[in-house]
Amino acid sequence: MNINILTIFPDIFNVLNSGVVSKAIKQKLITINLSDIRKNAINKHNQVDSKPYGGGEGMVMMAEPLIKTIKNINTSKRGHIVYMSPQGTKLNQDKVISLSKLENLTIICGRYEGIDQRVIDNYVDEEISIGDFVLSGGEYAAICLIDSISRHIPGTLGNKNSYLKDTFSNGLLKEDVYTKPEIYDSFKVPDILLSGNHEKIEAWKSEMSLIKTYSKRPDLLKNRKLTKKQKKLLEEWSSKAIL
Ligand code: SAM
Repeated sequence: MNINILTIFPDIFNVLNSGVVSKAIKQKLITINLSDIRKNAINKHNQVDSKPYGGGEGMVMMAEPLIKTIKNINTSKRGHIVYMSPQGTKLNQDKVISLSKLENLTIICGRYEGIDQRVIDNYVDEEISIGDFVLSGGEYAAICLIDSISRHIPGTLGNKNSYLKDTFSNGLLKEDVYTKPEIYDSFKVPDILLSGNHEKIEAWKSEMSLIKTYSKRPDLLKNRKLTKKQKKLLEEWSSKAIL
């Protein structure tokens, strides 16, 4: 997958040199092409932003440097153009999976009060938000997007199936996880996980995953068809939780 990033702060993306994404880059599963918008500034003062027409707070990123930077990317390599924006569609796992299937993706990172609307109207295919809060720059949102996409590119993860068991992948939260030692400072790992009975352990994991989703993110269960057994489990759990 080829990912083009348009930013005025290319150094921020140095964080991609660590962890899972860096492995994907080394294995050439992902190529990251950073374009510094300032290289297309409108004057020798490196200007890329200006005051908003009609007045108002702050500065707006100008259309010219942004559009020139987009045009510098070969049309065959631009692919889907995304603008990271708090006004976009909220990112979720389904969107991450569909983006991970693209060959080319271009991500525009805004700063200041955002980018001139004409860039969005004429070049952007989709605006994506990482949540209902405002960041100071689209770079941090782009890093979240790239990291989550990379988990779904075959070959990136050591265990190719691990993303299939992630939270959200089957619409539920993942069960609680534990590791060595069995007892730490009198805190014990649940007995079932030490029992060696794989069938019972898998049943516990499924139940735990359902109960956790019900208690932490009931919205995820809203349109889910539950079996009689699952409904009973949740009823029992709720009555215990109330007591
Ligand atoms: N004034 C803008 C508004 O109220 O909608 C917010 C601009 S914000 C300070 C600067 C840049 O950060 C945006 O252009 C966008 O690229 C990025 N950004 C901020 N919050 C974001 C979010 N929740 N998701 C994705 N990008 C975000």
